[in-house]
Amino acid sequence: MIYVHVPFCHRKCTYCAFFSRPESGKWKVESYVDVLLQEMELRRGEQAHPIRTVYFGGGTPSMLPIGHLARIVEGLRRCFDLSQVEEVTLEANPEDLTPDYLAALASLGLFNRLSIGIQSLDDDVLRWLNRRHTSRQAIDAVERAHEAGFHNISVDFIYGVVSASPMGPISPIGPISLISPIVSMVNHISVYSLTVEAGTALARQVEQGRVALPDEDEVVRQYFALHDLLEREGLHQYEVSNYARPGFESRHNSRYWDRTPYLGLGPGAHSFDGQCRHWNNPDGTVGEELLTPADAYNELLMTSLRTVRGLPLEAVPEGQKERLHRAMQPYVDCGWIERSDRFYRPTPEGLLHADGMAAALFIA
Ligand code: SF4
Repeated sequence: MIYVHVPFCHRKCTYCAFFSRPESGKWKVESYVDVLLQEMELRRGEQAHPIRTVYFGGGTPSMLPIGHLARIVEGLRRCFDLSQVEEVTLEANPEDLTPDYLAALASLGLFNRLSIGIQSLDDDVLRWLNRRHTSRQAIDAVERAHEAGFHNISVDFIYGVVSASPMGPISPIGPISLISPIVSMVNHISVYSLTVEAGTALARQVEQGRVALPDEDEVVRQYFALHDLLEREGLHQYEVSNYARPGFESRHNSRYWDRTPYLGLGPGAHSFDGQCRHWNNPDGTVGEELLTPADAYNELLMTSLRTVRGLPLEAVPEGQKERLHRAMQPYVDCGWIERSDRFYRPTPEGLLHADGMAAALFIA
Protein backbone atom coordinates (compact mmCIF):
# COMPACT_ATOMS: atom_id res chain seq x y z
CA MET A 1 0.00 0.00 0.00
CA ILE A 2 1.07 3.56 -0.66
CA TYR A 3 0.43 6.74 1.30
CA VAL A 4 1.00 10.12 -0.39
CA HIS A 5 1.26 13.07 1.97
CA VAL A 6 0.09 16.42 0.63
CA PRO A 7 1.36 19.06 3.07
CA PHE A 8 -0.77 22.04 2.06
CA CYS A 9 -3.85 23.59 3.64
CA HIS A 10 -5.58 26.86 2.85
CA ARG A 11 -5.35 27.82 6.52
CA LYS A 12 -4.91 26.10 9.86
CA CYS A 13 -7.89 24.64 11.71
CA THR A 14 -8.00 25.57 15.40
CA TYR A 15 -7.32 22.04 16.66
CA CYS A 16 -4.92 20.72 14.01
CA ALA A 17 -1.42 19.46 14.76
CA PHE A 18 -0.82 17.70 11.43
CA PHE A 19 2.09 18.79 9.32
CA SER A 20 0.59 21.22 6.80
CA ARG A 21 0.98 24.83 5.79
CA PRO A 22 -0.38 27.32 3.26
CA GLU A 23 1.38 27.60 -0.08
CA SER A 24 3.98 30.36 0.21
CA GLY A 25 7.69 31.13 -0.26
CA LYS A 26 9.61 27.93 -0.92
CA TRP A 27 6.46 25.93 -0.18
CA LYS A 28 5.06 25.83 -3.70
CA VAL A 29 2.81 23.09 -5.02
CA GLU A 30 4.86 22.85 -8.18
CA SER A 31 8.17 22.21 -6.38
CA TYR A 32 6.42 19.76 -4.05
CA VAL A 33 5.20 17.75 -7.04
CA ASP A 34 8.67 17.82 -8.65
CA VAL A 35 10.28 16.45 -5.47
CA LEU A 36 7.51 13.88 -5.00
CA LEU A 37 8.08 12.56 -8.54
CA GLN A 38 11.82 12.28 -7.88
CA GLU A 39 11.09 10.39 -4.67
CA MET A 40 8.85 7.95 -6.56
CA GLU A 41 11.64 7.29 -9.08
CA LEU A 42 14.14 6.65 -6.28
CA ARG A 43 11.84 4.32 -4.35
CA ARG A 44 10.18 2.47 -7.20
CA GLY A 45 11.64 -0.94 -6.22
CA GLU A 46 10.78 -0.70 -2.53
CA GLN A 47 7.23 -2.05 -2.45
CA ALA A 48 7.65 -5.84 -2.54
CA HIS A 49 4.02 -6.65 -1.67
CA PRO A 50 1.23 -6.19 -4.22
CA ILE A 51 -0.20 -2.67 -3.91
CA ARG A 52 -3.88 -2.90 -3.05
CA THR A 53 -4.58 0.56 -1.66
CA VAL A 54 -3.37 4.10 -2.26
CA TYR A 55 -4.29 6.94 0.07
CA PHE A 56 -3.75 10.66 -0.53
CA GLY A 57 -3.84 12.32 2.90
CA GLY A 58 -2.74 15.59 4.36
CA GLY A 59 -2.99 18.40 4.67
CA THR A 60 -5.63 18.91 2.04
CA PRO A 61 -5.00 16.82 -1.09
CA SER A 62 -8.03 18.38 -2.82
CA MET A 63 -6.14 21.70 -2.75
CA LEU A 64 -3.92 20.30 -5.51
CA PRO A 65 -4.99 21.67 -8.90
CA ILE A 66 -6.02 18.82 -11.19
CA GLY A 67 -2.99 19.30 -13.48
CA HIS A 68 -0.65 18.61 -10.55
CA LEU A 69 -2.72 15.69 -9.32
CA ALA A 70 -2.59 14.25 -12.85
CA ARG A 71 1.23 14.45 -12.81
CA ILE A 72 1.31 12.57 -9.48
CA VAL A 73 -1.08 9.90 -10.77
CA GLU A 74 1.07 9.48 -13.90
CA GLY A 75 4.18 9.14 -11.70
CA LEU A 76 2.53 6.49 -9.55
CA ARG A 77 1.48 4.53 -12.63
CA ARG A 78 4.99 4.78 -14.08
CA CYS A 79 6.86 3.77 -10.91
CA PHE A 80 4.59 1.21 -9.27
CA ASP A 81 2.47 -1.74 -10.34
CA LEU A 82 -1.09 -0.55 -9.67
CA SER A 83 -2.76 -3.46 -11.49
CA GLN A 84 -4.01 -5.01 -8.22
CA VAL A 85 -5.18 -1.79 -6.59
CA GLU A 86 -8.66 -2.02 -5.05
CA GLU A 87 -9.10 1.27 -3.21
CA VAL A 88 -7.69 4.73 -3.96
CA THR A 89 -8.78 7.47 -1.58
CA LEU A 90 -8.44 11.23 -1.81
CA GLU A 91 -8.97 13.30 1.32
CA ALA A 92 -10.93 16.40 0.38
CA ASN A 93 -12.41 19.47 1.95
CA PRO A 94 -15.98 20.35 0.90
CA GLU A 95 -15.19 23.77 -0.54
CA ASP A 96 -12.78 22.26 -3.10
CA LEU A 97 -15.29 19.78 -4.52
CA THR A 98 -16.78 21.88 -7.32
CA PRO A 99 -18.54 20.07 -10.19
CA ASP A 100 -15.56 20.78 -12.50
CA TYR A 101 -13.03 19.49 -9.97
CA LEU A 102 -15.04 16.32 -9.34
CA ALA A 103 -15.48 15.64 -13.06
CA ALA A 104 -11.75 16.11 -13.68
CA LEU A 105 -10.93 13.88 -10.69
CA ALA A 106 -13.18 11.14 -12.05
CA SER A 107 -11.53 11.44 -15.47
CA LEU A 108 -8.12 10.56 -13.96
CA GLY A 109 -9.53 7.04 -13.65
CA LEU A 110 -7.69 6.20 -10.43
CA PHE A 111 -9.68 7.51 -7.47
CA ASN A 112 -12.65 5.44 -6.31
CA ARG A 113 -13.13 6.77 -2.77
CA LEU A 114 -13.43 10.24 -1.25
CA SER A 115 -12.86 11.06 2.40
CA ILE A 116 -14.48 14.44 3.02
CA GLY A 117 -13.57 16.48 6.11
CA ILE A 118 -16.89 17.87 7.28
CA GLN A 119 -16.29 17.90 11.07
CA SER A 120 -19.66 19.46 11.98
CA LEU A 121 -22.93 20.60 10.46
CA ASP A 122 -23.28 23.41 12.99
CA ASP A 123 -22.08 26.65 11.34
CA ASP A 124 -21.05 28.21 14.65
CA VAL A 125 -18.91 25.19 15.46
CA LEU A 126 -17.39 25.26 11.96
CA ARG A 127 -16.41 28.91 12.41
CA TRP A 128 -14.94 28.20 15.81
CA LEU A 129 -12.90 25.30 14.37
CA ASN A 130 -11.69 27.77 11.67
CA ARG A 131 -13.05 25.57 8.89
CA ARG A 132 -13.53 27.31 5.54
CA HIS A 133 -16.84 25.68 4.62
CA THR A 134 -20.40 25.98 5.85
CA SER A 135 -22.76 23.13 6.66
CA ARG A 136 -24.64 23.78 3.39
CA GLN A 137 -21.40 23.51 1.38
CA ALA A 138 -20.62 20.22 3.13
CA ILE A 139 -23.97 18.66 2.22
CA ASP A 140 -23.73 20.01 -1.35
CA ALA A 141 -20.23 18.53 -1.71
CA VAL A 142 -21.47 15.05 -0.82
CA GLU A 143 -24.40 15.36 -3.24
CA ARG A 144 -22.13 16.59 -6.04
CA ALA A 145 -19.64 13.76 -5.40
CA HIS A 146 -22.46 11.26 -5.97
CA GLU A 147 -23.52 13.05 -9.15
CA ALA A 148 -19.91 12.82 -10.40
CA GLY A 149 -19.97 9.05 -9.87
CA PHE A 150 -18.20 8.75 -6.49
CA HIS A 151 -20.38 6.43 -4.43
CA ASN A 152 -17.74 5.27 -1.97
CA ILE A 153 -17.70 8.28 0.33
CA SER A 154 -16.45 8.69 3.87
CA VAL A 155 -16.99 11.79 5.99
CA ASP A 156 -15.23 12.93 9.17
CA PHE A 157 -16.92 14.43 12.21
CA ILE A 158 -15.58 15.82 15.46
CA TYR A 159 -17.44 15.48 18.74
CA GLY A 160 -16.73 16.85 22.18
CA VAL A 161 -16.88 20.46 20.98
CA VAL A 162 -18.39 23.53 22.55
CA SER A 163 -21.34 25.06 20.84
CA ALA A 164 -22.29 28.50 19.60
CA SER A 165 -19.24 30.51 20.61
CA PRO A 166 -15.92 29.87 22.29
CA MET A 167 -17.33 31.06 25.59
CA GLY A 168 -20.81 29.76 24.93
CA PRO A 169 -22.60 26.98 26.71
CA ILE A 170 -21.62 23.41 26.07
CA SER A 171 -24.11 21.88 23.76
CA PRO A 172 -25.36 18.52 24.90
CA ILE A 173 -26.08 16.31 21.92
CA GLY A 174 -27.32 19.07 19.61
CA PRO A 175 -24.61 19.09 16.94
CA ILE A 176 -24.73 15.32 16.71
CA SER A 177 -28.38 15.14 15.71
CA LEU A 178 -27.51 17.56 12.89
CA ILE A 179 -25.46 14.92 11.10
CA SER A 180 -28.53 12.80 10.31
CA PRO A 181 -29.11 14.30 6.82
CA ILE A 182 -25.70 13.24 5.65
CA VAL A 183 -25.58 9.75 7.13
CA SER A 184 -27.86 8.23 4.49
CA MET A 185 -25.63 9.61 1.71
CA VAL A 186 -22.39 7.97 2.81
CA ASN A 187 -21.17 4.51 3.64
CA HIS A 188 -18.31 5.33 5.99
CA ILE A 189 -18.00 7.82 8.84
CA SER A 190 -14.99 8.61 11.00
CA VAL A 191 -15.70 10.32 14.30
CA TYR A 192 -13.01 11.90 16.43
CA SER A 193 -13.15 13.38 19.87
CA LEU A 194 -11.74 16.91 19.93
CA THR A 195 -8.33 16.70 21.55
CA VAL A 196 -6.07 19.50 22.63
CA GLU A 197 -2.72 19.05 20.89
CA ALA A 198 0.31 21.06 21.97
CA GLY A 199 1.16 24.01 19.75
CA THR A 200 -2.34 24.44 18.29
CA ALA A 201 -4.56 27.51 18.48
CA LEU A 202 -6.94 25.43 20.58
CA ALA A 203 -4.18 24.70 23.13
CA ARG A 204 -3.49 28.44 23.42
CA GLN A 205 -7.19 29.23 23.88
CA VAL A 206 -7.47 26.61 26.62
CA GLU A 207 -4.28 27.81 28.36
CA GLN A 208 -5.56 31.39 28.35
CA GLY A 209 -8.91 30.31 29.74
CA ARG A 210 -10.71 31.59 26.66
CA VAL A 211 -12.46 28.30 26.07
CA ALA A 212 -13.76 25.55 28.30
CA LEU A 213 -14.13 22.12 26.78
CA PRO A 214 -16.84 19.66 27.82
CA ASP A 215 -16.01 17.46 30.77
CA GLU A 216 -15.29 13.77 30.31
CA ASP A 217 -18.85 12.66 31.17
CA GLU A 218 -20.24 14.92 28.44
CA VAL A 219 -17.72 13.64 25.89
CA VAL A 220 -18.68 10.05 26.75
CA ARG A 221 -22.38 10.95 26.41
CA GLN A 222 -21.70 12.39 22.97
CA TYR A 223 -19.69 9.30 21.96
CA PHE A 224 -22.60 7.00 22.84
CA ALA A 225 -25.17 9.32 21.23
CA LEU A 226 -23.16 9.20 18.00
CA HIS A 227 -22.61 5.47 18.33
CA ASP A 228 -26.35 4.80 18.72
CA LEU A 229 -27.29 7.11 15.85
CA LEU A 230 -24.80 5.54 13.44
CA GLU A 231 -25.62 1.95 14.39
CA ARG A 232 -29.34 2.73 13.94
CA GLU A 233 -28.55 4.08 10.47
CA GLY A 234 -26.79 0.84 9.50
CA LEU A 235 -23.18 1.92 9.96
CA HIS A 236 -21.43 -0.51 12.26
CA GLN A 237 -18.44 0.37 14.36
CA TYR A 238 -15.29 -1.51 13.35
CA GLU A 239 -12.71 0.66 15.10
CA VAL A 240 -12.95 3.18 17.91
CA SER A 241 -13.27 6.08 15.45
CA ASN A 242 -14.64 4.34 12.37
CA TYR A 243 -18.09 3.18 11.24
CA ALA A 244 -19.05 1.62 7.91
CA ARG A 245 -21.84 -0.07 6.04
CA PRO A 246 -20.96 -3.75 5.50
CA GLY A 247 -18.19 -4.07 2.93
CA PHE A 248 -17.20 -0.40 3.07
CA GLU A 249 -14.63 -0.55 5.87
CA SER A 250 -11.50 1.37 4.85
CA ARG A 251 -9.16 -1.24 3.39
CA HIS A 252 -6.23 1.12 3.68
CA ASN A 253 -6.64 1.80 7.39
CA SER A 254 -7.44 -1.83 8.16
CA ARG A 255 -4.10 -2.80 6.66
CA TYR A 256 -2.25 -0.34 8.91
CA TRP A 257 -3.84 -2.08 11.87
CA ASP A 258 -2.75 -5.47 10.47
CA ARG A 259 0.78 -4.08 10.26
CA THR A 260 0.98 -4.60 6.49
CA PRO A 261 4.12 -2.93 5.08
CA TYR A 262 3.51 0.41 3.40
CA LEU A 263 5.36 3.04 1.47
CA GLY A 264 4.90 6.68 2.48
CA LEU A 265 5.76 9.41 -0.01
CA GLY A 266 6.03 13.15 0.60
CA PRO A 267 7.24 15.33 3.49
CA GLY A 268 6.45 13.88 6.92
CA ALA A 269 5.22 10.55 5.49
CA HIS A 270 6.12 7.32 7.31
CA SER A 271 6.99 3.98 5.69
CA PHE A 272 7.07 0.51 7.24
CA ASP A 273 8.74 -2.57 5.75
CA GLY A 274 7.52 -5.11 8.31
CA GLN A 275 10.42 -4.54 10.73
CA CYS A 276 11.63 -1.00 10.34
CA ARG A 277 9.78 2.29 10.24
CA HIS A 278 11.32 5.26 8.44
CA TRP A 279 10.10 8.68 7.60
CA ASN A 280 10.88 11.87 5.69
CA ASN A 281 11.27 14.84 7.99
CA PRO A 282 9.80 18.08 6.64
CA ASP A 283 13.37 19.52 6.52
CA GLY A 284 14.48 16.83 4.04
CA THR A 285 16.32 14.58 6.54
CA VAL A 286 15.24 10.98 7.08
CA GLY A 287 14.44 9.20 10.37
CA GLU A 288 14.54 5.46 11.03
CA GLU A 289 13.45 3.17 13.85
CA LEU A 290 14.05 -0.57 14.00
CA LEU A 291 11.16 -2.20 15.85
CA THR A 292 12.23 -4.64 18.58
CA PRO A 293 9.98 -7.66 19.33
CA ALA A 294 8.67 -5.67 22.34
CA ASP A 295 7.85 -2.66 20.11
CA ALA A 296 6.05 -4.93 17.65
CA TYR A 297 4.00 -6.55 20.43
CA ASN A 298 3.13 -3.17 21.96
CA GLU A 299 2.00 -1.90 18.55
CA LEU A 300 -0.16 -4.99 18.16
CA LEU A 301 -1.83 -4.19 21.52
CA MET A 302 -2.24 -0.53 20.62
CA THR A 303 -3.85 -1.10 17.23
CA SER A 304 -5.87 -4.28 17.83
CA LEU A 305 -7.52 -3.08 21.06
CA ARG A 306 -8.88 -0.11 19.10
CA THR A 307 -10.72 -2.48 16.74
CA VAL A 308 -13.99 -4.31 17.30
CA ARG A 309 -12.30 -7.50 16.09
CA GLY A 310 -9.92 -7.21 19.03
CA LEU A 311 -6.62 -8.84 19.88
CA PRO A 312 -6.14 -12.22 18.16
CA LEU A 313 -4.53 -14.63 20.61
CA GLU A 314 -2.67 -16.37 17.79
CA ALA A 315 -0.69 -13.15 17.28
CA VAL A 316 0.45 -13.04 20.92
CA PRO A 317 3.91 -14.58 21.48
CA GLU A 318 3.69 -17.79 23.60
CA GLY A 319 5.93 -16.29 26.29
CA GLN A 320 3.49 -13.39 26.81
CA LYS A 321 0.22 -15.29 27.02
CA GLU A 322 0.13 -16.04 30.74
CA ARG A 323 1.00 -12.46 31.66
CA LEU A 324 -1.61 -11.17 29.20
CA HIS A 325 -4.41 -13.38 30.62
CA ARG A 326 -3.62 -12.17 34.14
CA ALA A 327 -3.48 -8.50 33.13
CA MET A 328 -6.69 -8.73 31.06
CA GLN A 329 -8.83 -10.25 33.81
CA PRO A 330 -9.77 -6.92 35.50
CA TYR A 331 -10.91 -5.54 32.13
CA VAL A 332 -13.01 -8.66 31.51
CA ASP A 333 -14.49 -8.30 35.02
CA CYS A 334 -15.48 -4.65 34.51
CA GLY A 335 -17.08 -5.27 31.09
CA TRP A 336 -14.55 -3.50 28.90
CA ILE A 337 -13.30 -6.72 27.28
CA GLU A 338 -15.02 -9.92 26.18
CA ARG A 339 -12.95 -13.05 25.91
CA SER A 340 -13.60 -15.73 23.30
CA ASP A 341 -11.48 -18.74 22.32
CA ARG A 342 -9.44 -16.75 19.86
CA PHE A 343 -9.81 -13.05 20.74
CA TYR A 344 -9.90 -10.43 23.45
CA ARG A 345 -12.57 -8.08 22.10
CA PRO A 346 -13.25 -4.59 23.49
CA THR A 347 -16.91 -3.72 24.14
CA PRO A 348 -18.15 -0.27 22.97
CA GLU A 349 -17.27 1.05 26.42
CA GLY A 350 -13.92 -0.71 26.34
CA LEU A 351 -13.09 0.94 23.01
CA LEU A 352 -13.24 4.28 24.77
CA HIS A 353 -10.45 3.08 27.06
CA ALA A 354 -8.44 1.23 24.41
CA ASP A 355 -5.34 3.41 24.61
CA GLY A 356 -5.19 3.24 28.41
CA MET A 357 -5.68 -0.53 28.45
CA ALA A 358 -3.01 -1.06 25.79
CA ALA A 359 -0.54 1.15 27.69
CA ALA A 360 -1.15 -0.85 30.88
CA LEU A 361 -0.38 -4.07 28.99
CA PHE A 362 2.80 -2.87 27.28
CA ILE A 363 6.01 -4.80 27.82
CA ALA A 364 9.50 -3.29 28.05
S1 SF4 B 1 -7.76 20.96 6.73
FE1 SF4 B 1 -7.17 19.12 7.88
S2 SF4 B 1 -4.92 19.04 7.80
FE2 SF4 B 1 -5.55 21.10 7.15
S3 SF4 B 1 -5.42 22.37 8.99
FE3 SF4 B 1 -7.55 21.60 8.85
S4 SF4 B 1 -7.59 19.64 10.00
FE4 SF4 B 1 -5.42 20.19 9.62
